[in-house]
Amino acid sequence: MLKKLFQSFRSPLRKPQQHVRTTPEVLSSSQHSLQRNQFSRYAVNIVERLQTAGYQAYLVGGCVRDMMLGITPKDFDVATSATPEQIRAEFRNARIIGRRFKLVHIHFGREIIEVATFRANHPIDDEDEDSNQSSRNESGRILRDNVYGTLEDDAQRRDFTINALYYDPVTERVLDYANGVHDIRNRLIRLIGDPQQRYKEDPVRMLRAVRFAAKLDFGIEKHSATPIRPLAPMLRDIPSARLFEEVLKLFLSGYAEATFEMLVDLELFEPLFPASSKALEYNPTYTHTLISEALANTDLRIKQNKPVTPAFLFAALLWPALPARVLRLQERGMPPIPAMQEAAHELITEQCQRIAIPKRFTLPIREIWDMQERLPRRSGKRADLLLENPRFRAGYDFLLLRESAGEETDGLGEWWTDYQDANDSGRRDMIRDLGSKPDATGQGPRKRRRSSSGKRKRAGVDGAE
Ligand code: ATP
Ligand code: MG
Repeated sequence: MLKKLFQSFRSPLRKPQQHVRTTPEVLSSSQHSLQRNQFSRYAVNIVERLQTAGYQAYLVGGCVRDMMLGITPKDFDVATSATPEQIRAEFRNARIIGRRFKLVHIHFGREIIEVATFRANHPIDDEDEDSNQSSRNESGRILRDNVYGTLEDDAQRRDFTINALYYDPVTERVLDYANGVHDIRNRLIRLIGDPQQRYKEDPVRMLRAVRFAAKLDFGIEKHSATPIRPLAPMLRDIPSARLFEEVLKLFLSGYAEATFEMLVDLELFEPLFPASSKALEYNPTYTHTLISEALANTDLRIKQNKPVTPAFLFAALLWPALPARVLRLQERGMPPIPAMQEAAHELITEQCQRIAIPKRFTLPIREIWDMQERLPRRSGKRADLLLENPRFRAGYDFLLLRESAGEETDGLGEWWTDYQDANDSGRRDMIRDLGSKPDATGQGPRKRRRSSSGKRKRAGVDGAE
């Protein structure tokens, strides 16, 4: 009680809540560019049905923001005053999902519309009256968040002003509680409320700020940017499974290269990828080039609608951190190949403590890395066997990536490019020509092979240094 009183004295000075109004600015259809028929007809239909049933309902979040910017939205979200159970009662094809947030998914063939009940932000001073609906930890992070609220509450608890626009497709009006339209016009990512407190409540918002800034080519407003560096270490406490989901969104949305630059600049890369961040410090040019090239390729593939695999991405993000570990193990007397295997294992295990990369991706990461050891050994039938390996393509692409980052491989990438293009007799000739190069055969006296593979190892991995 005393704490509450004290805060009510302090709060006007401490955190001016200039961003959220209780009465929204209302934009009529002539004052904005949105048109009902641009939105998913299923989403519009859900809003209409909920309103007919007596509830408030709006299109909200990313779809309104993206439409205003002329971008095709990824998905369509609906916010409503109806509870999940009430929503489910209205729609046969509705399923309640979620632990952190209880949401309803309404299915229309392959399209899913997410419908969320209006939620409230719970003020910090309500902690004493904590119910099982919401809770925070000692640093202010919200652990559960299922407190329902009014439309005004819902606007206030959203992360950025540009994400708090509500579109009513029936009246074709936009409700703007947080000056979101102004920030869209000025291309600014701005947190609603006190930035420091909002990041502390949910540190993932720092990553979301970067994601939206990169995707929309917006700036992060000064007061929303300043607290990020000091609060970045809070990401270490976020459950690793949630971070995995966020990192995929960061790097698979088509703007990974710009995202990476911003993450590094705002010191958010370190808590996500500590070992790679060290490599970036010790070996900046190589590490930066390799990661940026990999991300630029990913962005290009996404723009061309080609498939991308998270395994390749993680393989590239972590590769520059390997050499130092391999060396350390070798210095302790471990032979090169086991040292490489052990280093890879250690690195992935450590990384998974931060970001829970599922096994279905960690195995292919290892295979892509193993392939780097095998690609130089081409004699006899080895080259043809490698070509048939389902990981060959990823391994070969990875080799080209290493070369483009400046690793010395003695023309190995070009050799493999030619080999794939050659006919049978051309391939036989290429293998025969290797005979004179001990490095490439992987044959010869046992002792010599060892030392040459050790050299290869260094060319492949330590070449990074
Ligand atoms: P996109 O779907 O294009 O990635 P989005 O804005 O729709 O962008 P979602 O993750 O789908 O992002 O979230 C939907 C909406 O929910 C957001 O627009 C925002 O208003 C709100 N929201 C999501 N995550 C948070 C968060 N961590 N804190 C506060 N509000 C959030
Ligand atoms: Mg969305």
